[in-house]
Amino acid sequence: HRILLTGANGYIATHILKQLLSSPAQHSVRAVVRSLAKVDDVKVVFPDVDNKRLDFAIVPDMTVKGAFDDALESDPPFDIVMHTASPFLYKAAGSAKDFLEPAVKGTTEVLEGIQRITPATVTRVILTSSFAAIGAFGQVDESNKIYNEDDWNPVTLEVAEKSDDNKNLAYLASKKFAEQAAWEVQKRESVNWDLVSLNPPMVYGPLAHKPKSLSDLNESTARLWNLFLKEKNPEGALPPNGVHLYVDVRDIARAHVLAMDAPSAGNQRFITTADPVDSQKIADIMRAEVPGAAERVPKGEPGTNTLPADAYGADASKAERILGLKWRPVEETFANSARQLLEFEKGN
Ligand code: NDP
Repeated sequence: HRILLTGANGYIATHILKQLLSSPAQHSVRAVVRSLAKVDDVKVVFPDVDNKRLDFAIVPDMTVKGAFDDALESDPPFDIVMHTASPFLYKAAGSAKDFLEPAVKGTTEVLEGIQRITPATVTRVILTSSFAAIGAFGQVDESNKIYNEDDWNPVTLEVAEKSDDNKNLAYLASKKFAEQAAWEVQKRESVNWDLVSLNPPMVYGPLAHKPKSLSDLNESTARLWNLFLKEKNPEGALPPNGVHLYVDVRDIARAHVLAMDAPSAGNQRFITTADPVDSQKIADIMRAEVPGAAERVPKGEPGTNTLPADAYGADASKAERILGLKWRPVEETFANSARQLLEFEKGN
């Protein structure tokens, strides 16, 4: 395949890139990032890949009309577009608009760009949406609810636009309205591509790149670092459970790769989640498996399950069936993450 990958320097996208470039299928990828410095950040991760397999485009602002037009010009032309770029770093967004605008306009710009520049060659668009677009995250009673791909987050645009003081809601809404915008463009008759929406919950697992510092981590990894590992706090309180559904970053990256060639994936959404996990389980794994973690991570009550019996869940069987996805063991995800974060702290 010839693939356009947006947000290519991100946590998930770097794993996608790694899997695409190591595939025997000899895919070639154009990585889209926001600046020249970020081109260099990606090049450092893949020093030995030649520019026939990996080239770059810089799109400084994906909300402007025609933002992706130059990036979409390619010989050989693109047949796959993967759109991962979207704001998720809470500390980088000052207002609800900072989430909503790039998420929604970035999505419509890349899709309309395809129609302008290369409408006949692109056959599939793979969108990194989120479980944020599906779950209600406490906005309604979710007791015993098992989510599936028919569900949508109930948040309205009106409420989202006013949620400057609630970044969580602004982020959830940005993912819902970006995905809905993508489905609207796809339904236009003149479109030659189908859409695959991947809807992961929290993504954890090791980075494929080295962050500049531990204050420069992506949002989900930063939560593991800040809540579990940063302080020496073994007798402290366990962090709140937060979103108890998660997927390993290597598995969600693999979902993107598998989605390119699964024929019946076209025009489908996929919840991509492993089994639920609570803070106690994460703490137990880190403390048991990672040298140095036991003197930091709150102990809680090892071996207990702190999730309420009526906690919501999600059905990931469609992704297993149609994409052929499997979920790696929970121990691997959290032990690998914690080990790597402690290594980064040592400067390795
Ligand atoms: P990262 O923050 O590591 O990556 C986000 C990517 O999007 C970066 O390349 C970033 O570029 C780019 N980006 C962010 N804001 C903008 C903007 N305003 N304009 C253009 N590009 C922008 O996060 P992840 O890898 O975790 O996220 C990738 C995708 O996965 C996102 O769509 C996110 O919503 C989704 N997702 C992530 C989950 C998670 O737990 N990690 C869970 C579910 C979905 P730059 O480096 O220049 O800021």
